[in-house]
Amino acid sequence: MNGTPGRDAETSGEGPAPGNRAAGAGLPRPGSPGEGTGAAETVIENVAIAPVVGPEIARGYIHVRDGRIVALGAGQAPVAPGATRVDGAGCLATPGLVNTHHHLYQWASQGVAQDATLFEWLTALYKVWAAMDAEVVKGAATAALGWLALSGCTTTTDHHYIFPKGRGDLFAAEIEAARDVGMRFHPCRGSMDRGASQGGLPPDEVVEGLEEILAATAEAIDAYHDPSPGSMLRVAVAPCSPFSVSAELMTEAAALARAKGVRLHTHLCETVDEEEHCLAQMGCTPVDYMEKLGWLGPDVWVAHAVHLHDRDIGRFAATGTGSAHCPSSNGRLGAGIARVSEMLRAGAVVGLGVDGSASSELTPLAGEMRQALLFQRARYGPAALTARQALEIGTLGGARCLGRQDEIGSLEPGKLADIVLWRVGGFAAAIDDPVCALVFGATPPVARVLVGGRTVVADGELRTVPQDAAGEAGAAAHRRLLGLAAARGVSVAQELRP
Ligand SMILES: [Zn+2]
Repeated sequence: MNGTPGRDAETSGEGPAPGNRAAGAGLPRPGSPGEGTGAAETVIENVAIAPVVGPEIARGYIHVRDGRIVALGAGQAPVAPGATRVDGAGCLATPGLVNTHHHLYQWASQGVAQDATLFEWLTALYKVWAAMDAEVVKGAATAALGWLALSGCTTTTDHHYIFPKGRGDLFAAEIEAARDVGMRFHPCRGSMDRGASQGGLPPDEVVEGLEEILAATAEAIDAYHDPSPGSMLRVAVAPCSPFSVSAELMTEAAALARAKGVRLHTHLCETVDEEEHCLAQMGCTPVDYMEKLGWLGPDVWVAHAVHLHDRDIGRFAATGTGSAHCPSSNGRLGAGIARVSEMLRAGAVVGLGVDGSASSELTPLAGEMRQALLFQRARYGPAALTARQALEIGTLGGARCLGRQDEIGSLEPGKLADIVLWRVGGFAAAIDDPVCALVFGATPPVARVLVGGRTVVADGELRTVPQDAAGEAGAAAHRRLLGLAAARGVSVAQELRP
C-alpha cells in the first residue's frame, strides 16, 4: 500500500474547520481524559483494510455507528452527515487484537528471577505476590492495560489467582482499571488451593480454601459478568494450574462455570517440569488429567499448551479446547515452542497472549504476532505460519478462545467496532504488502485504537487516561509491592535477584 504516512486527521461531517486539519486536530489531548472519545458515528476513509474475514481492501472505508461496524468496502466512503471522519491515508486497519492470557498484577514485579525456570521463578515470586493489595493491583493493571492498548489490543483477559486476606477487593481493583482505560475485559477469577503441604508448588500462605474459592468465584460472576451482546466485561473461572490446584477444585470450578454459563481457563502443559509433576503425582499426563476432570471442551481455553503429545493436539481440535499461545513468555522462561502450526493444521483454536509482565517484561501484544511467526518458522520452516495466519490468531483466534467470534476478531458489518489503524507508510511503505509490514518487522506505530467505536488511543497516545500517569501508576505499584513484601519480612533482595 502506498500513501503519505501522515498523522490521521479527524474532522466532523460538516467538513474541516479552517486550520484544523493539522496532525491530530480535533482529538482530545492527554490531560483531558475521556473528552470526545465516544463519537456515536465515525467514518474511517482512505484506508487499507485487512478484515481477517473476507477480501482485503487496498483503499476503502469503515463506517461505524453506535459502537458497531455498519459497513466497509472499497473506494469512496459514504456520505454520513454529522459523522466524525478519520483520514486513514498511510494506515492499515485490522480488527483489534485479543489478548488471551495475562496476569496484570505482575506489572509490579517485572525484571526479577531473570534466568530462572518457571518453577524457580514462581518459587522466588510467590512470597512477594502474597504481599499485594488492591492498590498494587489497581496501579499495575492501569499500566499493563494502557500498555496493551498502545500495542493495538482492544480485548484482554486477566488471570488473577492470588487473593491475600484483608488486602482489599483485588478483583474489583482490576475491573476499575479496565473501565478507566476503556478496554473490553474478560477477568478470570483464579485460585489455588494446593499448597506445599498438599504436594503443590506454592507456599501454603498464598492458597485459599476450596469453599472460600467457590463462594468468592460465584460472587464475582454474579457481581460483574455481563452476558449481553456487546458486553465490555465477562468473567471466567480459572483455577491456576494442575500443580497448584486440587482435583476437587478443578471439578467443582468446572461445574460452577457451566452452571453460570461462563468460560473456563487455566495454565496447562507449560513446561516439562509440569509434565513430570503430573506423572509423579497424578499418574498421567496433564492433558489426560484434565480430560478426566472434564476440562476439555469448547468452553475451555488454556494458557501455553507447549508440551502437547500428538494425541493431545487431536483432542484439543476435536473438543474445541482453545490455547493461548504466549511465545515471548515461553522464550523468556525457556519453556519451549508450542506446536502452533500443527495445532492450526489440525483445526484447533489458537489465540495469542502476552502472559504476565513478570515473565514477559513490557511485551506488546502486536509483537507476539511476529514472535509466533518466527518461533514456528524456526521450528518447522518458512511456510509454518504466514503473516495472515499470525494476524488471524491475534484477532479471530483470540475471539474464538473467548467465545466471542460472532462479535469481535474480524471487521465485518454488524461486529463491534474494535479497530486498529497501523501506520504502514513512511519506512514501512517500502513493503507493498501492509500485512507483511505489520507482522514481519518492528510493529508500526498505532494511529488509532477504537473499542466499541470509542477512541482509546490516537497518534500513539492513550486518550482515555493520562498516559504518563498510567506509566507512573505501574512504577508506584512496583515500589509499593516491594515495600509491603519487606514489611512482611520477605527479603526482597534475596527473593528478587536472579
Ligand atoms: Zn500465565
